[in-house]
Amino acid sequence: MLSYFLIVVGLLSTASCHSNHHHHAIALARSVVAAASSASSVSVASGQTPAAVANPTASLVGPSAPPLSGVNTATTSQLPDATLTATDPNIPPLSDLTSGLPSSVTPIFTFTAQLGAPGPFPGAPPLPTTTLDRSKYPSPTQNAPTDHPLMSEWLKELEGHQIPDIPPNTNNSECALNPEAARDASRCWWTCGGCTNPTDIVTCNDKDTWGLTFDDGPSPFTPTEENLNATFFAIAGNIYWFNEIAVEAYLQGHQLALHTWHHQYMTTLTTEEVVAEIGFARMMMKDVFGVTPSYWRPPYGDVDERVRAIALAMGMQTIIWTRNPSTLDQFDTNDWRIPAGQVTGPQAFQQFEAILTNASVLNTGFIVLEHDLYPQTVDFAVGYTLPTALASTNPTFTLKPVIECLHLPMSEAYNETRTQPLPQFVTSWHGEFINVAEIVTQSNSNLTTSSSGGDGDGSGSSSEGSSGSSSGSSPLSVSLSNVILAAVVSILAVALKS
Ligand SMILES: [Zn+2]
Repeated sequence: MLSYFLIVVGLLSTASCHSNHHHHAIALARSVVAAASSASSVSVASGQTPAAVANPTASLVGPSAPPLSGVNTATTSQLPDATLTATDPNIPPLSDLTSGLPSSVTPIFTFTAQLGAPGPFPGAPPLPTTTLDRSKYPSPTQNAPTDHPLMSEWLKELEGHQIPDIPPNTNNSECALNPEAARDASRCWWTCGGCTNPTDIVTCNDKDTWGLTFDDGPSPFTPTEENLNATFFAIAGNIYWFNEIAVEAYLQGHQLALHTWHHQYMTTLTTEEVVAEIGFARMMMKDVFGVTPSYWRPPYGDVDERVRAIALAMGMQTIIWTRNPSTLDQFDTNDWRIPAGQVTGPQAFQQFEAILTNASVLNTGFIVLEHDLYPQTVDFAVGYTLPTALASTNPTFTLKPVIECLHLPMSEAYNETRTQPLPQFVTSWHGEFINVAEIVTQSNSNLTTSSSGGDGDGSGSSSEGSSGSSSGSSPLSVSLSNVILAAVVSILAVALKS
């Protein structure tokens, strides 16, 4: 049995992002952001999921996971007491963590990375000596473009690698809508049945070791300053806005890993689109940190043999989150369902208890999915799930970034500093393989025939799905908070220049 002590020592709260040491500078920005987070009312159509909650001039890209499948929420005893409170008095009671209610999370806006500062681990190169040049990147609110001049170079990285010629899935990679693909075991499509390739990382080595992962940031709510280090799978389109927060996380000893440019279902993309989503994200991370992650997590865990092979050819090994091998229950806290209005804090906590129950049947450690895009999910982690895990005595959990739970030093998390080569892709796929040379040639000719505008035929429409304006694909209406947050970003921009 697990023993939980919910109202626990302030293991986390002492160093949490709610502490007061960011008191000078940009006080105005902070209070406005606090207002933004309490004002953030996100309305989500039933059965739908949010794409973004905060919106600095455009939009952050966020989780919209597939329907709750493979999750057994009925295994645990009962809902925790609805009055559960966190040790940190700034964090609302668990029962108050809902889509509309205020959050305590004080966004951190005061960190400015010193250009050329020393890297955070032995052997790390210094931070870049130039500020991020956003002008060389595509729009952070749209899918990575495939008509960019760098594409043919990136596509060449695939040469010499066997890339299974698997046609893209359709309809947000839903298993039921792609029955042929779901049935074809040789595609090893994780979404439908949890198939993993030997090169996937889905567990930690040692029993009761917890690989702590946060997806979809960076955001003003990213808990960079916890005593506990995590792996952050960052969306490059969000690093675009919050690069300083990402750098702070990196310098604080967290592992930074790639989560694509614009958070698409990767198995639905063409090979060129996958390359673009990884290529631009990789380029931005190198620009911001001075190193390139060796690990990535496909959004929604949506990966098959083609996508894995492309990623490995581009220097990215796949990390997903753990599933109970017999029940396929996922180690997904479903924390994002709180801001989505789909579950209450206590219901999410019940899901979390199911995870701990699943952990007890594994011989290995496990990797848990949480999110740092929303104030509620960060409150949920910092106030509830993490203190509970840390206070557990039977068993005792050890929480670490994934790289460390694999018994590897942080230097192995980045291509420039790792000493071990990435594993070779192996597959049981028995179809045809992609002729990469052909794609490179096509790509080159596309570039020469359509290069004039630079923007392709994208029509210049600025409101794409996740910006929440009118597109039919967007379930989200983001209200006042967008405007406020946009204002904050402007204030910030001015403050950072001075
Ligand atoms: Zn994600």
